[in-house]
Amino acid sequence: MATPRRLLARLRETMAHGTAPLQELVQLVAVELVSEVCSVYAARPGEILELTATEGLNQTAIGRTRLRVGEGIVGLCAATGQVMNLPDAQNHPAFAYRPETGEEPFASMLAVPVRRAGRTLGVVVVQNRNPRGYSEEEVDEVETVAMLLAEVLATAGAADGAEEGVAATVPRVFAGAPLVPGIAIGTVVLHGHRRRPVRLLADNPDAELARLHDAAQHMQRGLDELIAGAPDGLASGADGHASREVLEAYRLIAADAGWLRRVAEVIHSGLSAEAAVQRVAGELHDRMRRITDPYLRERLSDLEDLAGRLLSALAGDQPRPAVPPGAILLARRLGPAELLDWHAAGIGGVAIEEASPGGHAAILARALGLPSVGGTRGMLDTAEPGDEAVVDGDEGQLVLRPEVEVRTTYFREMAARSALEAGWAPLREQPGITADGIRVKLMLNVGLTMEVAQLDTTGAEGIGLYRTEIGMLARGAIADVAEQAASYARALDAAAGRPVLFRTLDLGADKLLPGDAPQEENPAMGWRSLRIGLDRPALLRRQLRALLLAAGGRALSVMFPMVATVAEFRAARALLLAEARRVRPAPERLSIGTMLEVPALMWQLDELLREVDFVSVGSNDLLQFLFAADRSSPSLFNRYDLLSQPVLNLLEHLLVTAGGAKGGAGVPVSLCGEAASRPLEALALVGLGFTSLSMPASGILPIKALLAELDLAAFRPVLTSIRRNTSGAASLREPIAVWAREHGLPV
Ligand code: PEP
Ligand code: MG
Repeated sequence: MATPRRLLARLRETMAHGTAPLQELVQLVAVELVSEVCSVYAARPGEILELTATEGLNQTAIGRTRLRVGEGIVGLCAATGQVMNLPDAQNHPAFAYRPETGEEPFASMLAVPVRRAGRTLGVVVVQNRNPRGYSEEEVDEVETVAMLLAEVLATAGAADGAEEGVAATVPRVFAGAPLVPGIAIGTVVLHGHRRRPVRLLADNPDAELARLHDAAQHMQRGLDELIAGAPDGLASGADGHASREVLEAYRLIAADAGWLRRVAEVIHSGLSAEAAVQRVAGELHDRMRRITDPYLRERLSDLEDLAGRLLSALAGDQPRPAVPPGAILLARRLGPAELLDWHAAGIGGVAIEEASPGGHAAILARALGLPSVGGTRGMLDTAEPGDEAVVDGDEGQLVLRPEVEVRTTYFREMAARSALEAGWAPLREQPGITADGIRVKLMLNVGLTMEVAQLDTTGAEGIGLYRTEIGMLARGAIADVAEQAASYARALDAAAGRPVLFRTLDLGADKLLPGDAPQEENPAMGWRSLRIGLDRPALLRRQLRALLLAAGGRALSVMFPMVATVAEFRAARALLLAEARRVRPAPERLSIGTMLEVPALMWQLDELLREVDFVSVGSNDLLQFLFAADRSSPSLFNRYDLLSQPVLNLLEHLLVTAGGAKGGAGVPVSLCGEAASRPLEALALVGLGFTSLSMPASGILPIKALLAELDLAAFRPVLTSIRRNTSGAASLREPIAVWAREHGLPV
């Protein structure tokens, strides 16, 4: 095969006078790669891929051979966005035979997606007679060709343009996940989308490297200034500190030499600095698609965000077009620094196609109080700058080009809410208590030490879930015992005597010990969380020691995540007790509990309840395992309901078995999943008998307000009868909501 530089040099000549016809390009690639076939399939409206140019297949098939996305090797490549490298393509289960192409003689096949700004515009295919796997270098070359083709296809698509014109007037609703509650209505602005094509090839790598170097420095300076001058709102309050930690972590990623080195390598192969950055961003995007772990995805997403900043630096500072006040920002992905920039420009709401609620952008958006939704896939394919949009951060949806009535309804809702919120402020000083006098302990879920200060802003009674792994992920490494102890001690100090429930590290296999991590098909059900802790007892013991040191004689509560068997709990507790024997002063009280996230524990309750001091239901994971539904998959969001017979039956059985009534074990039970912060869920949980709930800070005041209006004694028999009379229904949400509304509850 030719060296990449030679192929690029030839491509440069061919494209010197603007874009070359596709047919010329495929001929050139076939010759240079010594392949018998090179073809391009372009995406057409309706998820179709059409053969648009070929060297080596029958020319009469051009425009005739069409595959659906997902059909055949080509369709599969487009659907997954992954390179298919097949020595024996015709025996691959996905192979779709198309007689008109005359491709029978060609055994091996390399299919590479043509992607631009996260969208698949087509597929480039190379085929050979001999059954052979294509080398990494060959794949690399075809990927470079795919980048060039992306510009050619994008230009051709822009010239057609017909389809976008039609879609642009139709109202659309994109369902996703709520990131930050609240409603915002405004004009759409697009983040880093549809960049102008850049010069792709360059003769002088040294000059490009020098440009890269300058741009990287420029970017770093810009970040320093941005962080130093972060808005006042961020400098105060607990979330502000949390966001600052996130920004600092981000700055460290920016300075990391690894990814810049990769860009330099690509420049050496003959690409311009811009094209090399885009290429590396594309690689990151592909890696991100394969990673299910939300935190790791966020780190990669930060890098992608930085790539965007680097591209802007390479382009020279161009003034950002004016942003209409209260604009709605739509982004495929968004890093924390980008979000700060946009906030400074005056946006009012955010929708991100690929964002998880625990991600950096979501943490920052929460701190800035920007209503936000994530997982609204497909919105960028139809949204245009200047469209009107509603971000509904409660329902987790984006309404694009809303109908007049929809818009009016949202405006009315916003007005009603500001009136409601004004009324909530006095609740800060009050505990959670129902109208008929039943106390419900409302606690906070936090992930960073600084968030503990939210106890004061919300009036929560303590920290019901301290996710210790978040701080480690924000700093990118596991802290040593002294650092961990200092950070946990700060949390206990800030809580000033209010309870703090520390959860031990809940990391996924690939986040913690990459050298040891096995490749897993299903990391959520894999070597994660307590399983790692028990297999790496030194690591868990260090954390337990740090917790005991931090307590310094004060009361300490520790719980273990992802416990699946009583034996696991016993093993973890034994490690804690062993450390507790060594650390002085001993805590005045040591409470050791378990999270209930794995359904198997429900069939070990009698034994378990004899061993634990408390149980905290992790409903996020419990629902994922109960319904076999990946919690991070946007397509499954809201498919299964906590307000359903199986979940409510399970929780009731737990409460009865653990409860203090006759025959019960007398073990306190709480629930700390995100569900606790949603009014209808909180209502049903309290109705079932929960007297302790732990939730994100944004939920505390609304749930206090709900409880204050709730006549629990009246609701309990209603809940029982709803459960009895709706057997077989997928969800009990509607009848519960009807009762709540009829009784004037703020749900
Ligand atoms: C849960 O699973 O409900 C939980 C609280 O833990 P996390 O969301 O951190 O997995
Ligand atoms: Mg969990």
